[in-house]
Amino acid sequence: MSNFNCPNCGGSLDYKGELTTMRCPYCNSSVVVPQEVRAAATAAAVGEGVKKMAPMVKYFIIFMIVITVVPTCIGLFFALIGTVVGIAAPILVVILSFIGR
Ligand SMILES: [Zn+2]
Repeated sequence: MSNFNCPNCGGSLDYKGELTTMRCPYCNSSVVVPQEVRAAATAAAVGEGVKKMAPMVKYFIIFMIVITVVPTCIGLFFALIGTVVGIAAPILVVILSFIGR
């Protein structure tokens, strides 16, 4: 809640800033913003900051997955090729030695 009533005229004031005082648009008097209103506004600002951070955390997690999973997949791919070549090469050599006779 960042709304409070002007102590001078009772008008509804919407507090947005960080200042300790603001001017009432109804009676044009300088109003001291109550501590709880300022605390609530600060808490709301922190909440907004966390909301803004959330997508960045998501991108960071995606980034971490990409830099760990992708090299692992590439490594497994080459390991698989190495295994296939390692098995196929001696078989090919044997087959070629039979053909060569
Ligand atoms: Zn007022």
